[in-house]
Amino acid sequence: MRVSNPFFASRYRETAVLLKATTALLLLLLGRSEVAAEQMWVDFRVAGPFVCRADFSLKGHESVFMELAEIQQDLIKKFGVPPSGERIEIYLFQGRTSYSRFVKRWFPEVPTRRALYIKNNGPGMVLVYLSDQLHTDLRHECTHALLHASLPMVPLWLDEGLAEYYEVPPQDRSHQNPHHNGTVWSFRFGRLRSMEQLENKQELKEMGRSEYRNAWAWVHFMVHGPPAARMELVQFLADIREGTPPGDLSDRLARRFSDPEDALVQHFKTFWK
Ligand SMILES: [Zn+2]
Repeated sequence: MRVSNPFFASRYRETAVLLKATTALLLLLLGRSEVAAEQMWVDFRVAGPFVCRADFSLKGHESVFMELAEIQQDLIKKFGVPPSGERIEIYLFQGRTSYSRFVKRWFPEVPTRRALYIKNNGPGMVLVYLSDQLHTDLRHECTHALLHASLPMVPLWLDEGLAEYYEVPPQDRSHQNPHHNGTVWSFRFGRLRSMEQLENKQELKEMGRSEYRNAWAWVHFMVHGPPAARMELVQFLADIREGTPPGDLSDRLARRFSDPEDALVQHFKTFWK
């Protein structure tokens, strides 16, 4: 994520907005407790770093909270991203109307989207309303929240690629992502985006469907492909965490693979055999 305002940034599925510092400061002064207290919350869950309030019963949604906590464990295991110890607040709404009202009330400059991840210099907040995509939205936005709780920055394309990777249920992550077929077809039609092309995307509005798909494909390659690729990603994230200028991940891969795009295509040819 590229954020020019260090105090407040807003992320949501298709675009991004930087809120004015005045709004950010106002929200900080008001405090989260007021945000949390005003709504009539009827259910409450704690899972790992997540504290969730919902204006509807969460009965039947228990599994997704376990999955959210497991994403944190997976980020540790696969990428060496440690937990920050910071809580992440989730607010769930039964309907789009109550969700939109809440967003307008507290984040008036944020256009309403199906799901939101909002971060200032306090805990991250995830806002989602009930739909048949609720669990997918939660896994996606909470991945952003976990990454940004532990790392001072994450490149936009990688942030979205990891969120797309984790948004499907855990048992589907290696072999069942909806991006898979489109990825294979994009290779056939020569529409593969290089990692450098993705690195050049500075704003979410530049990230269309194909950029999300290609970002997922590169993440899949680094997670399930040659171990050297994952090692480069792990070291890249470690450098970010430690404040060492990380450079571009594409440069690191280019030192490991003579033709990274070909290595990506070969990975997709062999992994699903
Ligand atoms: Zn996202």
